[in-house]
Amino acid sequence: MKVGWETKLDGVLGDRSTKALRAAFGMETVGDLLRHYPRRLDDRGQLTDFANLEIGEHVTVLARVVSVSERTYKPKSGGRLATRTEITVTDGQRQLLLTFFRQPWKKGQLKHGTVGLFSGKVNLFRNSRQLLQPTCDVLGSGTDLDEFDENAERMRRWWPIYPATASVSSKMLMDSVGLVLDAVEEVADPLPPPLCAELGLLPLTSALRQVHQPADPQEWRAACERLRFDEAFVVQTVLAQRRHLMRSLPAVPRPVTAGGLRARFDAALPFTLTNGQLEVAAEIEHDLALTSPMHRLLQGEVGSGKTVVALRAMLQVIDNGGQAALLAPTEVLAAQHYRSIVAMLGPMAEGGMLGSDFDGTQVVLLTGSTSAPRRRGALEDAASGAAGIVIGTHALLEEAVEFAELGLVVVDEQHRFGVEQRAALTAKAGFTPPHVLVMTATPIPRTVAMTVFGDLDVSTLRELPGGRVAIQTNVIPVAERPDWLVRAWQRVREEVARGHQSYVVCPRIGGEPESAMQEPPADETEIAARRPPLAVADVAAELVGGPLAELRVFMLHGRLPSEEKDDLMRRFAAGRIDVLVSTTVIEVGVDVPNATLMMVMDAERFGVSQLHQLRGRVGRGSAPGLCLLVTESPQGTPSRTRLEKVAATSDGFELAQIDLESRREGDVLGASQSGRRSSLQLLSVLRDEEVIARARHLAEETVSRDPLLDSHPVLADEVERLSRSEQASFLEKS
Ligand code: ADP
Ligand code: MG
Repeated sequence: MKVGWETKLDGVLGDRSTKALRAAFGMETVGDLLRHYPRRLDDRGQLTDFANLEIGEHVTVLARVVSVSERTYKPKSGGRLATRTEITVTDGQRQLLLTFFRQPWKKGQLKHGTVGLFSGKVNLFRNSRQLLQPTCDVLGSGTDLDEFDENAERMRRWWPIYPATASVSSKMLMDSVGLVLDAVEEVADPLPPPLCAELGLLPLTSALRQVHQPADPQEWRAACERLRFDEAFVVQTVLAQRRHLMRSLPAVPRPVTAGGLRARFDAALPFTLTNGQLEVAAEIEHDLALTSPMHRLLQGEVGSGKTVVALRAMLQVIDNGGQAALLAPTEVLAAQHYRSIVAMLGPMAEGGMLGSDFDGTQVVLLTGSTSAPRRRGALEDAASGAAGIVIGTHALLEEAVEFAELGLVVVDEQHRFGVEQRAALTAKAGFTPPHVLVMTATPIPRTVAMTVFGDLDVSTLRELPGGRVAIQTNVIPVAERPDWLVRAWQRVREEVARGHQSYVVCPRIGGEPESAMQEPPADETEIAARRPPLAVADVAAELVGGPLAELRVFMLHGRLPSEEKDDLMRRFAAGRIDVLVSTTVIEVGVDVPNATLMMVMDAERFGVSQLHQLRGRVGRGSAPGLCLLVTESPQGTPSRTRLEKVAATSDGFELAQIDLESRREGDVLGASQSGRRSSLQLLSVLRDEEVIARARHLAEETVSRDPLLDSHPVLADEVERLSRSEQASFLEKS
């Protein structure tokens, strides 16, 4: 029988292995097994260093038995005495306990001096690390590792160590892969040989042999390089196909028109657009004039002037008889967009009304708390086309909302909306899809943008509008310098005396059950154990009764009715509130230029990007902004170091990178990626920028010549496999 990629495993392996591999990893075919790559390469002459064993991880270690003991115990369930066998193994320096219940024969199998591969989940037992009921593969015994292997020619020096489970050990995977590789001749390669040579990559068949059975680490690395490229290439091909499809959809072109609302808006603009804004605006202007829908991500720091750019795009569409919808994640933000857009448009926002700009348009707001009569009016204006701009929250997605001619959808703060939600809105345009502009203030590193947001074109605003002073950030370590906190409250009073306002941000509202509290970052559990995070209610009470007694202090948080929130924001914006003690509801997009000082309490409980977003709320006017990060974290702890990094740089892209590095790959790609078998095993979307860029380029070229991959059957199969796999759900985030 000819063994190939699609051959079922039971055609090559025994029943037992086939079943075990299916149960443990869902493997069905030879291809599934060969794509299960080793996690690392171990030198058989060296025991595994125990120093890196993490609690909770499933590990495979090469180790030597140093002691064996056996106890009997009375099982809780009653019955006869049972045995517990404890075997201590070593890596030459450290020790690890292997514990077996009711397997008395282990003491015969694992005698002193035995060397083996042991796989299991690491846990803590009486303060030392142990593997409970690990699987064991005895390799031999002897003090000199080179002596022990009797069947030396089968034993390779370099051992692949596979991701294993309790039922399938790394050794079993190695043996199964060995059998399969003996039977397989050549696997079909999505990259033709000349292309491999050009890219400096191994042919697929050699790469697969070398990744599983390398002669040395160099061979292994070369194999990984080829397979890593393949992972990037398949993902990028899927994304290139999507972009191709998008370009082939029809859209109503909305070119710039002379003398329209946009031209008049530009003429009335009280400032000049920055070079960055002009560049991005030109890209959007160009996209809107095309006959296929725009699909663009606009990223830029808080305050970089995205909203103005988006508004100009909306006006360009309105000038062409279309309508624009602006979707915001919160009511506060939707209401603020509404206010600032109406203000920026001036009389142009009162189109059709008596005594006002007749050629203007109408702007309407639709949120969950819009009153029934207003809602009716807004729905009518949207459906009739009288409203050129419809701003709202999730309420915009409801079925009752209809448009006369939806030409542009703007989604603010992308990461809070899923694809389905975006789709629900674009569907309101009928058969011809609208242009889509997605805005985010959380900078996305290029590699992630290329993968997770791979089917969006990306525009970036890097500079802040001129004259704005960067926000100064300081850490206030209350444990070491309680006097600095006293001084900070005094600073708040001084700012207010100068006619400015301040925010005090706390991690929680107060009064909620413990279980509802925000989870602290993983490395901060010891702080969490000390006391609950500070609450808005408590902090506000303390300030009013103490350091800020003379000031107008108010609380703002998500549990207030939205009318009250809105009212508070309006009064704060109007300068009738001095200090707003709040949760992170003010994180996104809130714009009060007169606010100059922000204190973040228990700052270590917030993520890097979140802190950066938060401090973007101050210093938005002409006065410089100051952000004080108050923390009890001692110097040298990871959380304190993180805060110091936030204080040291104002580059959002650098911070986003720090943030990503402190997280795990799975969080970037979505939960399913941390599942059993990932479609990305070797590729890191954080580190492999160059590989991704090369793969993207090749994919783009391939798809533009052969969109359906008719003449690339192997690649087409891979693409099909990826699209089918539920693990590709990270692709759905774009
Ligand atoms: P973003 O949405 O990116 O956070 P905004 O569009 O809300 O930023 O802009 C922040 C503030 O800067 C607003 O008050 C806006 O009017 C102002 N602004 C925008 N562009 C410029 C510019 N080119 N020059 C001066 N001020 C600007
Ligand atoms: Mg904004």
